[in-house]
Amino acid sequence: MINNEQISKAFKYTLKVLLDMSTEDVANYCQFIKYLPRRENFFPEERVLYIIPSNFFDSAIYGTEKSLPLLPLKEISGIPLLFGYNKITHDGNRLVVYADIIASAFFLLTRYEELIRKDVRDEHRRFPGEESLPFRADFIHRPVVDEYADLLRSWLKIIGINVPLPKRKFSLQLTCDVDHINTNPFGIISVLRRIPSFVLGRQNFMTVINSLAIQLNLKTDPLHTFDIYFDALQKGITEVQNIRSEITFFFLVGSNKYASLNRTNYRKTAISIIRKIIMKGGNIGLHASYQAGSEPDLLHEECDILEQLCECKILRNRHHYLRWNEIEDGWEIKNSGINWDSTLGYPDVAGFRLGICRPFQLLDPERMELFEIEEHPLILMEGTLSERMQLSFDEAYDYSKNLIRQTRKHSGEFVMLWHNSSLILHQNNYYPALFNKIIDIMEMS
Ligand SMILES: [Zn+2]
Repeated sequence: MINNEQISKAFKYTLKVLLDMSTEDVANYCQFIKYLPRRENFFPEERVLYIIPSNFFDSAIYGTEKSLPLLPLKEISGIPLLFGYNKITHDGNRLVVYADIIASAFFLLTRYEELIRKDVRDEHRRFPGEESLPFRADFIHRPVVDEYADLLRSWLKIIGINVPLPKRKFSLQLTCDVDHINTNPFGIISVLRRIPSFVLGRQNFMTVINSLAIQLNLKTDPLHTFDIYFDALQKGITEVQNIRSEITFFFLVGSNKYASLNRTNYRKTAISIIRKIIMKGGNIGLHASYQAGSEPDLLHEECDILEQLCECKILRNRHHYLRWNEIEDGWEIKNSGINWDSTLGYPDVAGFRLGICRPFQLLDPERMELFEIEEHPLILMEGTLSERMQLSFDEAYDYSKNLIRQTRKHSGEFVMLWHNSSLILHQNNYYPALFNKIIDIMEMS
C-alpha cells in the first residue's frame, strides 16, 4: 500500500532527477508543476503545468502486477510513454498534460519492474535484459528519461517558466573489472605444475617458457593491460575536445578462488598495480564478488580487504556478473560504505537499463527512501556485444556509436566496461580493435 506522503516523495524524487537539480532548487519549481489526481476540468491556477497522474500510484495498483505497462506502448512527441496518453490541452498559461512522464520515469529509474516480477530471474539470479520493458518495447537504445526531461522543460517554457539547463557536459567513464590479475594465479607453483604436461607433450614449450618468464619478472603479464586505458585517454580526449573523463578499476578481492587460495601472490601483484593506477590519477573500486550478489552482507568484508590493499577508503563498486540482484540489496551496499555504483546495466543487452545516461541518486521504490548511492549506469560492456548480442564487429561498432551519440546528445556520462583481459592482442575476438575505434569516436566532435 502506498500513501499520499509516499506519492509526494516519489513525485519530488522524479522531478529532481528529471530537472537534474539540487533539492533546494527543485523546490522553487514545484509550485509550477502540479501532479494531482484528475478533477474534471478543474485547473484553477494560472502559470501551472498540470500533469495528470495515471493510475500507477493508486493504492490498489502500486506494487501489484496491475501497475505494469501494457504493450504496445503509447507515444508522446515520438517518445515511448509507459503511462498516461498523448493529450495536451493549453488554456492561456495553463498546460494540462495527460502523458504521465512522472510515473514513466519513476518506473525506469527505480527498477520497479524487477520489484514486481520477482519470479523472473536468469541462472545467476539476475533480472534478464531481454525480459525488461525497455528491451521488449524496443527502446533500450534510447535514454527516454532524458528525453522526458527535455519534454518537461519544453512544457514549462510554454507557460513562461525557463528552467536553466544543467551545467553538465558529455563525459566518459572508462571502467575495467579486474576479474583476473595474474595469468598464473598460483605463482611459480602453477608454472611448475605444467612441466609434466609439457613432458607428456600436452603443452607447448613456449607457453611454459613464457609463463616462467612472467614469474621471474622477465616479461610483463599479458593481463597487465592497465596502461592502455590511460594511453587511450591521453590521446587527447580530455584536452583537445574538452571531454571530462575518468578511469575506474574495480578489483575482485573477496570469495575469489585466486584471491583467497593464494592471497600472497594476489596481494603482491594487486598492491603494485593499484599503486600505479592511483599515481596516474585512476580510481579504485570494489568488484563485489559473485557470492556477494547473493549474500550482500559479504560486501563489508570485501571492502575491508580492498581498503587494506590500497590503503585508501573504498567508495565505488560494481558487482561481478552485474549481480546486484535485488533492489533492496542496496541497503547492504550502502552500509558497507559504498556511495558510488556502476552495476546497473544489463549483461545481455547493451543500452540504457534505467532509461537515463547520467549519474543520479537511487531510490528504493518500496520504502520510498534514497539509498544514498549515486548510480553511474553502465551503458556498454564489450562481452555483451559479442557474446550475448552476437554482433559482428561492424554491427557492434554501429550499435556503440549510436549509444555514444545518444549520451552525447543529452550531455550524459558514457560508462563503458572493457575487461583488462579484453585488451590482450592476438586473441580470437574483436575487443582490442573495437576499443580503439570507440575511443576514436569519443575524440570526434
Ligand atoms: Zn567481473
